Amino acid sequence: MLATILHKPGDIRCEDVADPKILRPTDAIIKLSASCICGSDLWPYRGLQPVDGPQHMGHEYCGIVVEVGSEVRTVRPGQFVVGSFCLSDNTCPHCRFGFQSSCEQREFMSGAQAPYARVPLADGTLVATSEVPPVELIPDLLAVSDVLGTGWYAADAAEVREGSTVVVVGDGAVGLMGVLAAKEMGAARIIAMSRHPSRQKLAHEFGATDIVAERGEEGVARIKELTKGVGADSVLECVGTAESFEQALACSRPGGTIGYVGVPHGVSFDGQKLFFGQKRMLGGPAPVRRFLPDLMERVLQGRIKLGKVFDLKLPLAEVAEGYRAMDERRAIKVMLEV
Ligand SMILES: [Zn+2]
Repeated sequence: MLATILHKPGDIRCEDVADPKILRPTDAIIKLSASCICGSDLWPYRGLQPVDGPQHMGHEYCGIVVEVGSEVRTVRPGQFVVGSFCLSDNTCPHCRFGFQSSCEQREFMSGAQAPYARVPLADGTLVATSEVPPVELIPDLLAVSDVLGTGWYAADAAEVREGSTVVVVGDGAVGLMGVLAAKEMGAARIIAMSRHPSRQKLAHEFGATDIVAERGEEGVARIKELTKGVGADSVLECVGTAESFEQALACSRPGGTIGYVGVPHGVSFDGQKLFFGQKRMLGGPAPVRRFLPDLMERVLQGRIKLGKVFDLKLPLAEVAEGYRAMDERRAIKVMLEV
């Protein structure tokens, strides 16, 4: 089959590889309904994360189970499933606390920018629907697998409640999904920090009440102005740079909470600033598995529509153009037809 391989930074190719096979009795093989490119795929693509030899890319997926290992009990061939980018057994103590992304058996999904993929720990990782969903819901269900699950976790970790004032730092797909999550959780005010007109528009559609285009100190001053000098109850950090963390911390009120889901690159914290600022933080790789059944149900019932986050669709063979489009911020998120 054809699959996506990153050879070195900037060198992404669609090339012939062996079909995935069951390697362990807890594996499943799925036929993907569609795949996509993640903002986090850009870290190795840009050379900001080491690439040690050719890597199979892709960790967002949904599709039909075609084969299962001998120990798989909860999913069977023919079922439509969605899984998380973190593979988990869903039975260890961390999983039972709802932190499946710290599972004792944790692995990270790879190889999903392809027509078929192997999913380890299938029982703990995959959630099946009762029927095969209509094709028009595929983009929404695919987005649940990572970007919605991650945006949802950012809002959950930031303790968004009914009536909260929320700031979302980052207007990538995850930030936009964070806006949607905050809206679903009943936030009264959702301020999206974005400088790009097309993303501002989408943020409004997903539930943002205000947009702040300024960044850095000016951005923080605008947030203070909009919150009567207090700061936000909840801040969703969806970027991962030193500047975005700085901004997130400064936008939060004393006692407020920052949910951070952008993978930190070059970020360090000033202990005294955290201490005297009284900031609460929770983040990390999103335990998407905790939220999957609920989020899939919201999509299947038509309660949330998030497929619009894919603003470019390409055939798998043109995956290199997809990476370029996201790298150059010409596209928010690229869906791949496999
Ligand atoms: Zn576990």
